[in-house]
Amino acid sequence: MKIKDIRTTTLACRVDPPYASAAGVQSQRGALLVEIETDSGITGIGEAGLGGGATATVIAKTLAPMLIGEDPLLIEGLWQKMFARTRQYGRRGIAMHAISGIDIALWDIAGKVAGLPVYKLLGACRDRVEAYASGGFYQEGKSVAELAAEAEDYRARGFKGMKMKIGRNPSTQTHLRQLLGNSTFCEVDPSEDLARIAAVRDALGPQAKLMVDVNCAWSSDFAIRMGREMERFNLYWIEEPVATDDIEGSIKVADALTTPIAGYETELGLYGFRELIGRGAVDIVQVDVAWSGGFSEGRRIAAYAQAHHRMIAPHAFAGAVLLMASLHFAAATPNAMVLEWDQNPNAVREELLTEPLRLENDSTVKLPERAGLGIELDRAAIDRYRVT
Ligand SMILES: [Mg+2]
Repeated sequence: MKIKDIRTTTLACRVDPPYASAAGVQSQRGALLVEIETDSGITGIGEAGLGGGATATVIAKTLAPMLIGEDPLLIEGLWQKMFARTRQYGRRGIAMHAISGIDIALWDIAGKVAGLPVYKLLGACRDRVEAYASGGFYQEGKSVAELAAEAEDYRARGFKGMKMKIGRNPSTQTHLRQLLGNSTFCEVDPSEDLARIAAVRDALGPQAKLMVDVNCAWSSDFAIRMGREMERFNLYWIEEPVATDDIEGSIKVADALTTPIAGYETELGLYGFRELIGRGAVDIVQVDVAWSGGFSEGRRIAAYAQAHHRMIAPHAFAGAVLLMASLHFAAATPNAMVLEWDQNPNAVREELLTEPLRLENDSTVKLPERAGLGIELDRAAIDRYRVT
């Protein structure tokens, strides 16, 4: 069996009104599909981080020529070859996004060849994964009561947990957000963030998992101050309190607070996570399989986390293929705890699969038993959102 062709499709959709985290304003959502065609008629489907639009170029110009003609089932060998041959300009960032999308598609092929769903091919740990609703964004004119109503809606739909955004605080920012653009959109005082969390905790009830995501906005000192204020809300985790590269700062925050620190989706690869995990900068490890090297590297990071008694909470905030890949990854990973299920309007997550995910009554999602990732793409939806 040989790889015949590798194609990418860039998808994008508008979201109106836009929504914001501390790190950025979303007025558009997107995804990069990766399809690997073989000479046996099997095609593997993956998704890669968009990398600001540059990932598709890395795949087309660098990785595809490296892989065409190769046996797609030599997944680990191909992974190491892609990593080694992009070392001078890769190791992290866009090259790793590109490797991720290809790795996911290769595992989809392997599952289809074996006649097994990917999570079972990887050595399944469970056949359903608890999902939490990822939302609670800032929006122009969105009141605390509207945020509470959003939380109430998740609870009514059966979610046992929810994550919300905090940290768009002008007076407490590190330099980071000023550089990101749209820095004055939906700014709130830190006291309003505390009121927002209180309202969501009330709406969800005391038993629900409630997580807050700072998207790297705070200094370590301010994160500790806010972390102490937030202790009364019994948070399940505080996500990315400080800048990804502020490892010392994150260690300080994790040491000072009893609330677990989760992160950092913006770190990539085993060697990046080795620092975060090994030095105690995170209690909960958030790997994005479309950014951080796919299933192959994700498993290595999870094993390293397990050796340090850390849990995995996959980050997934893009298209439908990533969401499904994250579900398989969580089901196959012993120390995975929950699946992030983005609930914001996003057509490239909601409309792409002929059989979308469904939340069960106990807040879990069941794994599909079809071979590979178990997905079929809705070609009409792809045509609707294809960027040409
Ligand atoms: Mg996050």
